[in-house]
Amino acid sequence: MKRKLLKNCSWVVTLDEKSAIHRNTDILIEDNKIKEIGKEIQCDADEFDCSGKLAMPGMVNTHHHLYQTLTRCIPRVQDAELFEWLTNLYEIWRELTPEAVYWSTLLGLGELALTGCTTSTDMFYVFPHQTSGELIDEQFKASKALGMRFVPCRGSMSCGRSDGGLPPDDVVQDADTIHADCERLIKKYHDKDPFAMTRVALGPCSPFSVTPSLMKETAQLARKYGVKLHTHLAETKDEEKYCAEKFNMRPFELMESIDWVGEDVWFAHSIYVNDREIRRMGETKTGVAHCPVSNLRLGSGIAPVPEMLEAGVPVSFAVDGSASNDSSDMLGEVRTGLLAHRFRSGTTSMTAETALRIACQGGTQVLGFDTIGTLKPGMAADIVLINMNQMPYAGALHDPMAAVVFAGATHIVDATIINGEVVVWQGKLTRVDEAEIICNANHIAAEMVERAKRRTGIDFLSKPLLIAQ
Ligand SMILES: [Zn+2]
Repeated sequence: MKRKLLKNCSWVVTLDEKSAIHRNTDILIEDNKIKEIGKEIQCDADEFDCSGKLAMPGMVNTHHHLYQTLTRCIPRVQDAELFEWLTNLYEIWRELTPEAVYWSTLLGLGELALTGCTTSTDMFYVFPHQTSGELIDEQFKASKALGMRFVPCRGSMSCGRSDGGLPPDDVVQDADTIHADCERLIKKYHDKDPFAMTRVALGPCSPFSVTPSLMKETAQLARKYGVKLHTHLAETKDEEKYCAEKFNMRPFELMESIDWVGEDVWFAHSIYVNDREIRRMGETKTGVAHCPVSNLRLGSGIAPVPEMLEAGVPVSFAVDGSASNDSSDMLGEVRTGLLAHRFRSGTTSMTAETALRIACQGGTQVLGFDTIGTLKPGMAADIVLINMNQMPYAGALHDPMAAVVFAGATHIVDATIINGEVVVWQGKLTRVDEAEIICNANHIAAEMVERAKRRTGIDFLSKPLLIAQ
């Protein structure tokens, strides 16, 4: 049995039902669980001095496209809206290789761990025909190397350009190939244990890249195996128009018509949902991955999160893909989310504690874990330590929990403990080499852009944008 004692944490923000914050308190970890939270715990354990630090539950990221870490800040699409942005980037994403998937996953999950996230999903859906197709296996390899709790969605696209979809034909797959790989991944990686480090969800990309019949069949498959369902929904006005023209329905109505609502379903974005749809999402406990930075970055809008919370919708925070966020900064996402809602609906629309609860417990609810999101005995030892003894927090210790959201500069936490293992210590990843990740990611990113340029003749590194050609 392995024991770790987090000695004398200056603040322990439990996010429990009483919103308890303990001062000068120890946390005892036994293997992968929290054993005890109390003063001056005496026992035989590896001790970590936590004075000056704030302990809080690890945050949960419920939407990402980790491969996009390799296409951040591409000049050609920096100022584009979603559909134009996608059409251009697909040309670079066609160049993805297993190696690119591995290093981009390590990079994105590494950034998340450094900024206080302990559990993440991903939605990977670009399967270039020249690769083996076993690309999510590369992601699991990376999450294991890093030590992140990981619940990727087996994404899918079945509607290429020749069928009226957005993606090029050579990155989409037929329904049989998609279903076979979904089933293979569930059998290989989906662990039903309450403290699982790996699970699988199924995630057809969006209503404009798969057929309704594929969505229906995916839901049947997910329910057969008891795994979660995830897709993009109601992100932009364009999507609303597309669904009206193609299906004569609003995006959420389309989902209702194919049995894609319920507590096993969560949608990314959900900006353009009306009052009836919010009410239905609350009644059915259909979850939302709220991605404020990506939504602001692409000018998509601000999701009606206070209204969703009022209606009982499970809402979580997510950084979204790095080509629409340029960052996998989990704590930064929480801060921006709070500011976005205050801009949209006034200062009382979201408190710092609500924002942290969305990040921790909202994510837990959406991904279906009841062992994470709160610091108390018996819960998973997924704990973040933030060093409050830094310039950006000085003068803000009247309310350290609020300081974590409102103040801070780099958002790099002092330590991240996942499943009882120290994954970040003194602001550095402990189990993988950060310099190697940076070097490989930069090299692979440059090569993908160069290959895409040679194939298409498009200079992705130049502005201004000439999308209308
Ligand atoms: Zn997305």
